[in-house]
Parts: sequence; structure tokens; C-alpha cells
Amino acid sequence: MPVADLLSDTLTRPPQAMRTVMAAAEVGDDVFGEDPSARDLEEHVAGLLGHEAGLFTPTGSLANQLALRMHVRPGEELLADSLAHVVRAELGAAAVFSGITSRTWTSAHGRLDPAGPLAMVSTGVGPYQVTTSLVVVENTHNFGGGTVQPLAAIRAVRAATQPLGVRMHLDGARLWNAHIATGVGLAEYAAEFDTVSVCLSKGLGAPVGSVLVGPSALIAEARVWRKRYGAGMRQVGILAAAGKYAVDHHLDRLADDHERAARAARAIAEVDPRVIDPGSVETNILMLDLSQTGCPAKDYVQACADDGVRLYAAGPSLVRAVWHLDVDDAATDHAITVMTRVLRDHA
Ligand SMILES: *Cc1c(COP(=O)(O)O)cnc(C)c1O
Repeated sequence: MPVADLLSDTLTRPPQAMRTVMAAAEVGDDVFGEDPSARDLEEHVAGLLGHEAGLFTPTGSLANQLALRMHVRPGEELLADSLAHVVRAELGAAAVFSGITSRTWTSAHGRLDPAGPLAMVSTGVGPYQVTTSLVVVENTHNFGGGTVQPLAAIRAVRAATQPLGVRMHLDGARLWNAHIATGVGLAEYAAEFDTVSVCLSKGLGAPVGSVLVGPSALIAEARVWRKRYGAGMRQVGILAAAGKYAVDHHLDRLADDHERAARAARAIAEVDPRVIDPGSVETNILMLDLSQTGCPAKDYVQACADDGVRLYAAGPSLVRAVWHLDVDDAATDHAITVMTRVLRDHA
């Protein structure tokens, strides 16, 4: 076991208090709508995000894919950032399941610039061209490096696309982190979107689960499609209770993850400022750019792993480190010692 496992914030294991709540959860058959813990979680998260209804799903990918299916008809298109999870990490599901075509805009560090999507939106093009039905925004942006999307940019896209009948979906797997980093309300972000998905299994530390929120009629239809996809779960309150516990107890502590990631970024920049700009680290994800050091990402990752620090090679010269519930101050100190030493040795 690594001393500091910074591979991903999906690695967290449920702490004892969460397991105790899970064991005591009231349950019923959720396919018949009779699981009180699942209902409770769905209503609670919908309320936090200011939307009418919620749907518990086993994964964030499924929450996203149900939303995409609700918004985009076969043969129509969605627009997303070129590094968005929906186009890079869901294995073509939008095309495979829903007949959706995707076009992407490029950005610096995943940060939304309204000009990206707005230059591509295509509506009222008759039988000649593909119709744009949806813009997907990811906040925070995972492969961008935990980048927080500016509310003004989101609002600019909304203002320009809503009159055209184009909908917006927020992949808010880490919306919690954006909220904690900026103080912008969860509902304030969510108000600009037709649907929002959030993950309970990332920094919040639940073992499983996401919630999709949106208008009641849309969520009712998504519930049917969830069953059709084979994800109608029975006594799922055991898992929903873990998610509720995570939201209630692990939201505020995300600030600790952000502080530790920032501390690591500052220490690494002191050794080699070409590798990371500490000002670019907004949340719990750190992206090291080794392209100017001559050290391949896989060599850096291996050298750190040899000393108990597990990282992820996100590209030939890109290394990702993610802070989460199971990385404390001592583990962070160790990670900083190893990551700076390896950098000195290899740069
Ligand atoms: C993790 C993640 C998801 C969902 O992933 P699952 O593994 O399907 O739960 C969706 N979007 C983003 C940006 C993510 O980081």
C-alpha cells in the first residue's frame, strides 16, 4: 500500500461511521419506489441543487448518459470540451446507446470560454446539417486539472443558447469542489442548467453512487430508462445512506484537500516553476507538466511509486495527483518530500 495514494479521489474507503449508518439504513424495493433512504437522498440532493427531482444511479457515467438521452435525439449532437469526461471517458456511450454525435471545442486547462461552444452551435439548419441540442459543461474539469468554471462564462453560454432551444447539462461530478473553492452556491451553479449530475463517490467518500437532478417529468422518464439499462436497484438504501452521510459530513472538509494540493503545488514550483503554476491549482487536482524537464511522465510516476507515492501518468509528459479523504497532512508531507526529490533528481 502506498503511503500517499494520489491516483484518484475514487479510491476512498467508507469510514466506520459511514458503515454504521449504512448498516442501519431503512430500505425497501426501490424499483417499486419503496426505498425510503433512496427517496431521502434523491430529495435532499435535488433540494441542495435547487431542482425539482433527483435520481440515484450507481455511477456518474450512467447519470450523465441518462441526461444526454433525455436531451438529445438520435442523429442530433451535443457540444462539449475536447477533454470532457462525457466524450473522453464514457467509452462512446452517447453514440452507442443514444445515437448522439458529439463535437468538441478546445480550451486551456478545460476552462470554459463561451466563444468555444457558441462558435459551434447549429440550429434551424433544416434537413442539411446536424442540429445542436445540448451543451455539456464539466465543473470542476477533471482532465483540465480540477479547473473551476467561471459563473459568468456559464451564464453567457446559457443566455445565448436558451433562446435557441439548446439545453445545458452540467457534469458536476466534482461540483462540490467548485462550491467549496469559490463559495458560489451549489444551487447558483445548478440554476443555469436543465440537468445536473453529481458524484458521491469522489471526494465525498461514498463507496458508490451519483445523483441526476432536473425537472420532475424528465427525471421520471430517466427512471424508466435507468431500469431499461438494467440499473433498477432493489434495497439500494444501503448505498443511498452512505451518499447522504457523505454529503452531510464530508462536504466542508474538501477545503482540506484543496489546501493540501495547493501546498504541494507551491513546494514543487519552488523546485521547478516550469512544472506547475501554483496559481492554477484551484481544487484537489494537480497536473504536473514535465515537458520541459526531459523526464517522461511514466519514469516520474515510477520513481515516486518506488517511494510510496502513487500518481497517474495522464499523458507522455503529464502527471496527475488527486487529494482526497484518505490523504492526511502526514501523507501530504511525505508526498511533497518524494515528489520534489524525484523532480530534483530527474530534471
Ligand atoms: C468520475 C467522473 C464521472 C463519473 O464517473 P463514474 O466512474 O462513472 O462514476 C463523470 N464525470 C467526471 C468529470 C468525473 O470525474
